[in-house]
Amino acid sequence: MSNEDNENQDSNEQAQTEEKEQEEKASKKSKFTFKCTRCDACCLERGPIPITMWDLELWARNGVIANFLPYLEVYTRPNGTVDLLLKPMPSEKKEETEKSPEEALKQTPLEDLLNEKCPLYNKEQEECLVYENRPLSCRTYPLDYDGTHFSIVDVDCPGIGQEGMTKEDLKEMRDTAKQMNFELTRIRIALPVLNQIISRNVMMDLMRQNMEAMSKMSDEDRQKLEDIFKSAQGDQ
Ligand code: SF4
Ligand code: SF4
Repeated sequence: MSNEDNENQDSNEQAQTEEKEQEEKASKKSKFTFKCTRCDACCLERGPIPITMWDLELWARNGVIANFLPYLEVYTRPNGTVDLLLKPMPSEKKEETEKSPEEALKQTPLEDLLNEKCPLYNKEQEECLVYENRPLSCRTYPLDYDGTHFSIVDVDCPGIGQEGMTKEDLKEMRDTAKQMNFELTRIRIALPVLNQIISRNVMMDLMRQNMEAMSKMSDEDRQKLEDIFKSAQGDQ
């Protein structure tokens, strides 16, 4: 074989090796592998977490729904979709010192809480306080399914690319993401109805409390109240 032939053979082999390496890299990139490292980064900067019917049913079955109630908020998106969200705690720097944590939580708009800590994450102990009852959204994170495609909602999640994911693990994660999508649709259908029933019950309760309070009032106090009410109407 001539020197020229040898050189051609060498460069062909080199090109093939490079091509193979590129193919391996591409397949590694496109192949989704994941293993949660339990770094808790997603709990520390999670923002509002969507809550589904599946979560409410789980909490009701396990008798823990009251633990979540202070952090739940019904949120109407600009497109009219109504969601139930687990509202994050405002960070200390954003809290006004004179406000109690409950007041701060109530008064801070959701838009200001997009990268805030989950209220159920304990920073000192570095753990989720409700791990067994954690929402479906936490079980499928960072994989999302929009009804047609899967996507990664957090490309910085250190679990992405970790080896050790079996075919069964992948199937389970994909199924959970699909279930999340299905359960979100379920609660979006049910929520406006629930919202109306709850508002009506709250109104009825207020009216009942008012009537009870009125029945306990002295004639004199009731007269005063009526006078105040009349003068307030006159001012309008
Ligand atoms: S899902 Fe990702 S960000 Fe969250 S704890 Fe696991 S590895 Fe960390
Ligand atoms: S519920 Fe638990 S797992 Fe989910 S974000 Fe909060 S602390 Fe993390």
